[in-house]
Amino acid sequence: MTHRAHEYDVIIAGGGLAGRSLAYFLSREPELAGTRILIIDEAGDRYPHRSLIYWHDNALPLSLTPAATFTSLAVDAGPAQRVLPLKRHRLCLTSSRPVFRCLDDVIDANPRITRLDGQVSRVRAHADSVEVALSDGRLYTAFHCFDSTVPPDGIKAPLLMTGEVRQVRTAHDAFDPSTATFIDFRFGEHNPVHFHCVLPITAREAVVEVTRITPGQVPSPKKWFQ
Ligand SMILES: Cc1cc2nc3c(=O)[nH]c(=O)nc-3n(C[C@H](O)[C@H](O)[C@H](O)COP(=O)(O)OP(=O)(O)OC[C@H]3O[C@@H](n4cnc5c(N)ncnc54)[C@H](O)[C@@H]3O)c2cc1C
Repeated sequence: MTHRAHEYDVIIAGGGLAGRSLAYFLSREPELAGTRILIIDEAGDRYPHRSLIYWHDNALPLSLTPAATFTSLAVDAGPAQRVLPLKRHRLCLTSSRPVFRCLDDVIDANPRITRLDGQVSRVRAHADSVEVALSDGRLYTAFHCFDSTVPPDGIKAPLLMTGEVRQVRTAHDAFDPSTATFIDFRFGEHNPVHFHCVLPITAREAVVEVTRITPGQVPSPKKWFQ
C-alpha cells in the first residue's frame, strides 16, 4: 500500500554519523532556520557503537571529553618506526555514543527536524524533487535528499573497509599514553591490505583497531539510480 506523500525541504536517509552530522550543521546555520528536515533510520537504538578517533585543534564544534588525547604519533612502515610530535593538533579517542549525544542534543531541540524509524527501500530523483520510499510503503518527498544508507544487496563498493576493535589490558606498563600508533602497516603486506592502530588509554590499557581493505565489486550505475 502506498501512503500519502509528505513534504520536507531535506530528507536525510540514514541517521548515522554522516546523516546526523549533516542535520546538526544544517540546524546551526542561521539562514536555514526554517528548513524542514526528516531523518529516516532503521537502526534506532541498535546502532553499532564504535570507537572513533578524530583530530582536534581547539575549534571542534562538539563539546566532547575524549577518553584519550595524543600529542605524538608513532608511524610504522617496514622495520622503521618514527615518532612524530604533533604541534597545534591533537588526536583524540572517543566512542560514537558521546558524539551522537552531542549531535542529538541539537537535533532533538529543533522542532523543524523529524526523526522516523523506517527502512529506506528506494531514493528516486526527479527534476525538482526527490522521492524516498520506505519498505512498508510510506512515501516522502523533499527538495533535497542526502542518502547514506547501505546500498541494496548485491551492490558492493569497489573497496570495502571493515575492522575489529579490541580493548586490551596488560599486567605491566606497555603503552605510552601520549603516543598513538596511528597506522601500522607492518602486517599489511598481504591481501587483504590491513593495518592496525594502537590507542593507549593508560600505560596498561589500549584500544587496538585492525582495519582491512578488500576489493569489492564495481556497482552498476543502473542499480544506483533506479
Ligand atoms: C572499522 C572502521 C573504523 C572506523 N574508525 C573511524 C574513526 O576512528 N574515526 C572516524 O572519523 N571515522 C571512522 N570510521 C569511518 C566512520 O565510521 C564512517 O565514516 C561513518 O560512520 C560514516 O557515516 P555514515 O553515516 O555514512 O555511516 P553509518 O555511521 O554507518 O550510518 C549509516 C546509517 O544508515 C542507516 N541505514 C542503513 N541502511 C538503511 C536503510 N535502508 N534505511 C534506513 N536506514 C538505513 C544505519 O542504520 C545507520 O544508522 C571507521 C569506519 C570503520 C568501518
